[in-house]
Amino acid sequence: MGRLEDTICALSTAPGRAGIAVVRLSGPGCFSALDEVFRPDAGDAEPVPRRLILGCIADPKSGEVLDQALVTRFPAPNSYTGEDVAEISLHGSPVLVSALLERLCSIGARLAEPGEFTMRAFLHGRMDLTQAEAVHDVICSTTLYQAQVAARQRAGEISRSLKPVEKGLIDVIVQLESSVEFVEDDLPLESRARLGEKLKGTAEELGVWMDSFRRGRVVRDGFSMAIVGKPNVGKSSLFNALLRQERSIVTEIPGTTRDLVSEFTSLDGIPVRLVDTAGVRRSEDRVERLGVDRSIQAIADADAILFVADLGGACSGEDEELRVRMVDLQCIVVLNKRDLPSRWSEEQKAAFAGAWPRVEVSAKTGEGIERLRSEILRHLFGDSAGARDGILITNLRHCQCLEAAQAHLARAARALDDGLSEEFPLADLHAALGKLGQITGETGVDDLLREIFSRFCIGK
Ligand code: GDP
Repeated sequence: MGRLEDTICALSTAPGRAGIAVVRLSGPGCFSALDEVFRPDAGDAEPVPRRLILGCIADPKSGEVLDQALVTRFPAPNSYTGEDVAEISLHGSPVLVSALLERLCSIGARLAEPGEFTMRAFLHGRMDLTQAEAVHDVICSTTLYQAQVAARQRAGEISRSLKPVEKGLIDVIVQLESSVEFVEDDLPLESRARLGEKLKGTAEELGVWMDSFRRGRVVRDGFSMAIVGKPNVGKSSLFNALLRQERSIVTEIPGTTRDLVSEFTSLDGIPVRLVDTAGVRRSEDRVERLGVDRSIQAIADADAILFVADLGGACSGEDEELRVRMVDLQCIVVLNKRDLPSRWSEEQKAAFAGAWPRVEVSAKTGEGIERLRSEILRHLFGDSAGARDGILITNLRHCQCLEAAQAHLARAARALDDGLSEEFPLADLHAALGKLGQITGETGVDDLLREIFSRFCIGK
């Protein structure tokens, strides 16, 4: 990342034509650069911070007017980056935006790198690392629920929850350190036991957070769902029935390609990639068989598989054949068309589902669909399926730091139990604290910063 002494500029709104575009400037030379390109209509009146000022953007050398604009100044330190920041709202024409950025660069500013504004906010203590990462998640969210989860983290939920944990560990460290410093203050056995218990309690608490990652990962990244079954059992109808109550439809998920066999939408506020399995059927044709194999592979990779059969038609050889193909996978059996007279006996249903959970539904009337939704969420999230409150770890990096901290705490507790000298648990406690500090960026993250912020878009 570039030097903090530089003044950076970038388009902060999406590229392309729009009503307005916002160009952001940050750094020590921000206001002098602004004065060179912006002429307020009100003349030389002292600009009021954080208030919109109308004027025009002009070429700093020729004075030629480029556009009318509204400008807001955010003097340091009360700005997004903690530096002097200016936001210039001009008409959303890519030509005008390029011209403005070019002029700003000609007078000493430079184009910002991806994530550089947010990285500066972190480096100036305006936000911790979890909040900075959440800015990226808010921007990339494709459903309202994802955006809400990310917004909670942006507001500092994770750092707030970590504070008491860190404070508790520091208390234990202080007690152990003082018994090392003052040899006559040997820690009594019962105190060692008490501290050991406390550490085990903390390790358990971190374990609960780590468990929330099972749900958090899916909330952040979405999941893929395959609906499998022979033709006409009601796969498409079921897909539509499942999604009927959804308000937000995802149109685009970054990093994934929209190909012929998948569709995107959301279930319970979580992005879903639906894998179309139309190709899974018997075939003598070699090319078609390759397609079938690819479909089977896609099914195997799916996070949830709905295996659909038709209660209105008898269980056929084709159902059985599919069942054999699916036998090693984790499926939810959906017996559809329960509004029709069933041609399956209870024994047949039980034998077909085997160890898989089964739900009877009617995609036509909507009966059983709620239960199926719950079953899908239970399959994905386990016992935390209904949980929408409480801390949710959505970021693999955070989960890995928690895992490492937990391992250190367990080792420290064992060292106390085993009567080892205080230096041993202390080393692990300091390491655990360091790992927790890495989550918020308080400790040892220099080499991580480039990686984290390079995933941002320019102008953020
Ligand atoms: P797919 O080929 O498996 O995707 O099946 P479709 O969703 O296209 O449905 C095949 C036929 O079954 C259509 O005529 C649907 O209207 C009908 N169908 C689907 N679900 C139900 C249901 O729950 N009850 C009844 N009675 N008909 C259904």
